[in-house]
Formats: sequence, structure tokens, C-alpha cells
Amino acid sequence: MSFSQLMLPEPLVRAVTELGYETASPIQAAAIPKLLAGEDVLGQAQTGTGKTAAFALPLLARLDPAQNDPQILVLAPTRELAIQVAEAFQAYARYMPAFHVLPLYGGQSYTNQLKSLKRGSQVIVGTPGRILDHLDRGTLKLDKLRAIVLDEADEMLRMGFIDDVQTIMDATPAGRQVAMFSATMPAPIRAIAQKHLTNAEEIKIASKTSTVERIEQRFVLLDANQKLDALTRVLEGEEYDASIVFVRTKSATEEIAEKLGARGYAVACLNGDMNQAHREQTIRRMKASQLDIIVATDVAARGLDVERISLVVNYDIPYDSEAYVHRIGRTGRAGREGKAILFVSPRERRLLRTIEYATKQPIEQMNLPTGQVIEQKRIESFRAQLAQTIETQNLSFFTDLINDWRDKLETSDAELAAALLYLAQKDQPLNVANKFPELRQPHARAERNDRPGDRRDRPERSFGDRPSGDRPERGPRQRRELQGDYNTYRIEVGKEHGVRAGDIVGAIANEANIDSQFIGNIKLFDHFSTVELPANIPNEIFQHLKKVYVRKQKLNITVDTGAAPAGERRSGPGPRPGAAPRAPRKPRE
Ligand code: AMP
Repeated sequence: MSFSQLMLPEPLVRAVTELGYETASPIQAAAIPKLLAGEDVLGQAQTGTGKTAAFALPLLARLDPAQNDPQILVLAPTRELAIQVAEAFQAYARYMPAFHVLPLYGGQSYTNQLKSLKRGSQVIVGTPGRILDHLDRGTLKLDKLRAIVLDEADEMLRMGFIDDVQTIMDATPAGRQVAMFSATMPAPIRAIAQKHLTNAEEIKIASKTSTVERIEQRFVLLDANQKLDALTRVLEGEEYDASIVFVRTKSATEEIAEKLGARGYAVACLNGDMNQAHREQTIRRMKASQLDIIVATDVAARGLDVERISLVVNYDIPYDSEAYVHRIGRTGRAGREGKAILFVSPRERRLLRTIEYATKQPIEQMNLPTGQVIEQKRIESFRAQLAQTIETQNLSFFTDLINDWRDKLETSDAELAAALLYLAQKDQPLNVANKFPELRQPHARAERNDRPGDRRDRPERSFGDRPSGDRPERGPRQRRELQGDYNTYRIEVGKEHGVRAGDIVGAIANEANIDSQFIGNIKLFDHFSTVELPANIPNEIFQHLKKVYVRKQKLNITVDTGAAPAGERRSGPGPRPGAAPRAPRKPRE
């Protein structure tokens, strides 16, 4: 379905078209009409499905441009997501005059945030802690709010923000629209949906199970900025005849085809902008081996049937399992073997698991070809060219030259051959074993095994996903085995200040940008608390954490020496369920 069919206003359609979006993703096609009609929506969708545009576009369409007060509030669990969502709003609203979006998250100075708030923004995207701080200070007013979005609601639960989310929801005017997105639907999330959403229809992207055979499937875990490097390595290190590389936008088809072309590949793009004749010509060229690589969008490659294709690279993750099965079905044609490789960023791991689940096939993690492998390949391919040249060409003119040069240069055949080889390989050097460093594996969330529906696999340190009614962040945290070096740190906020473990996790996760799964056990004492954190926290983050306030107390974080300060009972019990009364919230900085 195209964006113009979705009845979105022209400036928004123009913006997404310019971004290179060809069609709406399934979650977009389902959610946009409902949100445009003013309905509430509960969407079960992971990162990578296009959920941001699914709520941003229709809510932008309903915005009153003449009004400068906050009309849309998006709550997101982390500062990265808040920034990403704010950037997405900015990109979609580029043809809406006088539009302003403001991200508000912990770790940013209040002074700048206050200045921006005074200037006025129609859309605010923030982490719950910081939004609540601004509400408490009276610096953020929600009386003109038309819609609130809870993005990655289950992550907010996991990070201990759920009480904050409730408080913020209660502060929004009656009759505002609510859109809630969550990858999983644990009971506390359902409870929020039941309480705050009106007649919301649940949108779930069908993960139709389908089997794919004969196709070897692997994935590479990487950050988005590593994809191009990874692609060139895959194309060099893997054995294949012809390959199709799938991306999301037509602009990406052009950009990547151009970059591969510059690296010497026989490559072309295939996208929805091309007319039928051009498209057919491209496919013919691939069948005739004039092209080895096609960079395509899903729509443009539908039904593509070229026997030579033995490698599918999913450069951008597909929106759902159906699209995935479609894509990888471009290989393994006519009973042949095929390979499929999927690039996955840490945030997209859930979507990977959904795909795996729906296709009932394991997708194995792979490492990219190393410098040694690529060097070996290049040497072999050069040797093969040499062998073919010796076999097929009349070389007498060249042997005469060699004989002449050997004498004139007073050198040996081997040295002459080496010098010629050196010159011949300059464009594609052979000696590259050390030129391809190991890809730095993104670590955040990487080890987490979050196969959908399997509660055992959820991080043990998680606060959430317990039966409703059990207020998770008030119970004692489960003891867990931590991987790697951890230290116990002491922070100067304790039970007497009304602190809860959730406050500490939220503050550290956002202020120090440490994924909550790397935050270990927290013990609350009367005047202070201890928290286990990775031992290798960079000093600047450590210094920043010292200055962070939680419950009006400066954390003043130090490595815990175990010494009990005067009057403090060190061996006291951990936090008692429900023990800490909720003190009035105050800014964390
Ligand atoms: P999200 O699931 O919202 O995090 O989106 C993941 C990525 O998909 C972002 O880079 C978006 O720009 C991109 N995207 C979202 N919708 C579309 C679409 N309809 N066509 C192409 N790309 C899209």
C-alpha cells in the first residue's frame, strides 16, 4: 500500500517519498488509518517494523500547526530512542511550516531544555524520568495535549519506569488519543492498556509460519554504520554466483549500488521508480552474467526469478517474517542451494527472533570474513587468472621482454615476477590480512536472548514481566550471576530518602547511558545504597554520575569499601516490598 492511498496530507507524503519510502510497512498500513481516525491503538511491534512512522505520520496529520504548545508526547525508554524518534518526527515534518519537536532526556542540561521548552514545541519526545521532572517543576504543560505515545512500553517496564509512566498518563487531559507500542505484552503492559486506552484495537503483525528449505541462513550483529563495510566483506569472502542485496528505500538502492560499483562490482539497482522496461533489462543483464549484484527494495524484487542468485543479503532487516521468506526465496531457485545473510543491529534482535520463530528455522550468528580469508580469496582468484592467461594467451612478446629486462636489470625471474605482481595488484591489494580489523561487536543488549514468548529468557535482572499486582520495582531484586568484571559502588541515596531500585536503575541507565541489563544488584540501606556496575565504566561517566541527583540526593558515587558509616546497619535486610513511601519527585540534577 502506498502512502498516498493512506490519506495522509500531501506534505507528509512528499516527505516520506523523498526519504525513499516506496510502500507502507504492514504495521503502518494497519495503524495509520486508525490513528488518523482519532482511535486509540495498541500495537505489538518490534524495532525495525517501521513502528515510528506508524504513529508519527498520522499524529502529525492531526496536529494543529497554529498551536505552539505540546500536542503530542512520546515516552521512550532510552535517550537513544528518544533522539531517534525526535529525528524521525523532524524528517517527516520537513514540509510542515513552523513545526518544532523537542527531545527531553536525562543527562542533558536543564538550562538548554528550559530554553527550548519556552520557545514552544508541538511534539515532545522524552524519557519518563525527565518528563516527570519537568511536570513537577511546572516547566512542561500538557493541557493542550492531543495524543500520547508509549513507545517500547515493555522496555519502560523492564527499566523500572512504569510508575512514572502511570503518573504521566494521569497528568494528560481526558480525551487525548493514546498509541501504545510494545514488542511483548506482559501483564502490567496489558493492565496499562486496559486502564488508559479506549476501544483500542490491538494490531499485531502476523508472523505467518512458513518453512524455507535448502537455504542456509545466518545473521551478523552490527551497528548501522558498519553495514557497508560488512557488505563488502561478505561479497568478497562468501562463495556465490550472483547476489541480491535488500534495502528499505529506493535512495538506499541507488547509494549502495553506486558505492559497490566504485569498488569494481558489476552491480545495478532495482527500485519502484524504474519503469518496467528498465527493470526487465536489469534482470536480463543479471541472467546473462553482465551483472553479479542487484540492490533492490522488496516491492521491486517481487517475483524475481534468476537461477544464478545464490546469495541474498538482507542489508536492512525486513519488516516481518513474511517479507523475509519472500526475500530469501529469491535464492535456492530450481532446486539449487542458496545462502541468506541478515544484518541485525542490537535493537533489532527481537525482530530477528520473531522471524526465526515464524520460519521455524534457526538463523545462526556468523562472523564476517576476516582479513586472512579475504587475502586468501584474492590470492586464489589472482592465481586462477594467471593460470587462465598462461593457458589461453600467446605470451611470446612478453617472454621476450622479460628475458631482456632480466638481463638489463640484473635481477632474477622471481624478483621480476614479484615486481610485476606488485604493480598488477595495486587496485586490489593482495596483502590485506591485517587491513580488515575484526568488526567491533556492538555489546549493548547483544547477549540478551529475547526469543518471543519465552519468559525464562528474559534478563533475570529485569523488573518487569511479573504477574500484575506485584509491583516489581519494590520487591527485592533477584540475585543474578553477572558476566565480566563488576564492582560494587556506593551511592548516597537510601531508603530514608524514599528511593526505590527502579529510580536508581532509571537514573543510571539514562544518565550514564548504561543498558539496564548491565546494572547489577541494588541494595537499599537507610542512608545510602549499593549497586553493582561493570568495573570498566569510563572515568568521565563515573564523574558525571557523581553529580547526578536522585530523590534530591547527589549520588556522589564511589567504589564501595564495605565500611559501614556511623549509625548505619550494613547487614540490614534488603528492600522490603512496599517499604519505601513515594516521596515527592524532584529533579535529578
Ligand atoms: P522503526 O521500526 O520505526 O525503528 O523503523 C526502522 C527503519 O525503517 C527506519 O530507518 C525507518 O526510516 C525505516 N522505515 C520505516 N518505514 C519505512 C517504509 N515504509 N519504507 C522504507 N523504510 C521505512
